Amino acid sequence: MIVMKFGGTSVESAEAIERVSKIVGSRSKESPVVVVSAMAKVTDQLVAMGNTAASGDCGEALASLTALRDRHRDTAKALLGEKRAAAISPRLNAHIAELENFLRGLAAVRELTPRGSDYLLSFGELLSSIIVADAFIVRGLNAAWVDSRECLVTDATHTRALPQMSATREKSKKKIGPLLAKKRVPVMGGFIAASVDGVPTTLGRGGSDYSAAIVGAALDADRIEIWTDVEGMMTTDPRLCPGARTIKQISFNEAAELAYFGAKVLHPATLLPAIHQDIPVYVLNSRNIKSTGTEITAQAPRSRDVFRAITAKKGISIVNVVASRGIMVHGFLRSVFEAMDRHEASVDIVAISEVSMSFTMETKRLPDALLKDLEEIADVTCENEQAIICLVGEDIHGKPGIAASVFNTVANAAVNIRMISQGASEINISFVVQESDVPRVVRHLHDYFFPAKARVGASSAKRKTVRAGNSTNGSASKRSQRGTNGRSAGSAKRAAAAAV
Ligand code: ASP
Ligand code: MG
Repeated sequence: MIVMKFGGTSVESAEAIERVSKIVGSRSKESPVVVVSAMAKVTDQLVAMGNTAASGDCGEALASLTALRDRHRDTAKALLGEKRAAAISPRLNAHIAELENFLRGLAAVRELTPRGSDYLLSFGELLSSIIVADAFIVRGLNAAWVDSRECLVTDATHTRALPQMSATREKSKKKIGPLLAKKRVPVMGGFIAASVDGVPTTLGRGGSDYSAAIVGAALDADRIEIWTDVEGMMTTDPRLCPGARTIKQISFNEAAELAYFGAKVLHPATLLPAIHQDIPVYVLNSRNIKSTGTEITAQAPRSRDVFRAITAKKGISIVNVVASRGIMVHGFLRSVFEAMDRHEASVDIVAISEVSMSFTMETKRLPDALLKDLEEIADVTCENEQAIICLVGEDIHGKPGIAASVFNTVANAAVNIRMISQGASEINISFVVQESDVPRVVRHLHDYFFPAKARVGASSAKRKTVRAGNSTNGSASKRSQRGTNGRSAGSAKRAAAAAV
């Protein structure tokens, strides 16, 4: 069997759901289990409604609820026709009535708790999955709606609950197994689950991918398909570089690294339950039924290209911290790291010399209080509007000359590099440039490392010349540990940075 997950934009309208039913129909021989998100923007709207109600403005919250109800009702009518839409409307209405009661309750008590939030947000996926299941039936697919809260068991960490796999496996097999045996197509909402005692939980924003991976792992799927609105993961952002192309195969670690450094297609950490069981995950485009997309696996075969992809993460600040005279060196570093720890600073790249240290952080996450604390022990300067360029590829491990070709290409683009970091995980090279240089540097790097197919011969000759001219790379002179921050699977092991 396979799991097919469709995100919010893939079910955003009657037309979109129509496409989904064709795609699922094309896989019907493979026993698909379908996981859907809420219709696009619905989760955000539910969050807003909850906040409005909890602030005491019940009228406005209920007006938004009416708009939400109408959108679902109209979509159902367009997909199912008046008569059949009328047949499912009691189910939709029952959920809308529950929501209304809940919003009134929120307005009365003026508080939205994490537990309440999970209950509130669960309606997005409940409504979309009911409509999608019925749309499938009308189009000749033998679909069966499944309540995810009866399959996925989590702990009680509301708003970002963690799955309990053995209970989930048992319940999912019991619920979904018999449907598959009868050649039915189970359709369930992603993102939502329930704790052991049956209280609704959610897996965190964007959690439908996580649901797909959990269900796939629980049912030992042959593969998992994540259908979105782009053609898989790309070699770089196509808005920056028109030559960007789809990555055919990528390892889990590489995909995690890309997500950490700015790729937005999906959060690979959510695929871990599948990756642990060696189930391949495909990222596909729901606007193209023939999409082959990107395959993510625990280990990916080597590619012709040195790197898998290049990302750019804008909105970065460089903070330079120089020890004030008279402070012991070891004491200095400890105080800086302690300050970071106190402010829970998530640092990207660190470069250290004996009496100074530079680090980068997302500007919007850089607390003023941290800068103030650092000013007590050092001279601090801060430069905004910087960007981290990151080149990711498992093959760079142990190959001489790669850093040299990267930095030569950057030099050819006449772009100045502010900081360099080559990961101890050895699957990325990243460096900091001014934000305004991003398009230029990405285009040069992409042209060089991902040459258009017709130009492969010419360009590999060029590569050799550059390598021969630069046998040492500039990343090693001042080595330091990179701060860990636990935000992605691949980030904890990184190290070695050098200031330039
Ligand atoms: N609907 C949820 C969200 O918007 C889950 C998802 O779409 O993956 O976060
Ligand atoms: Mg998503």
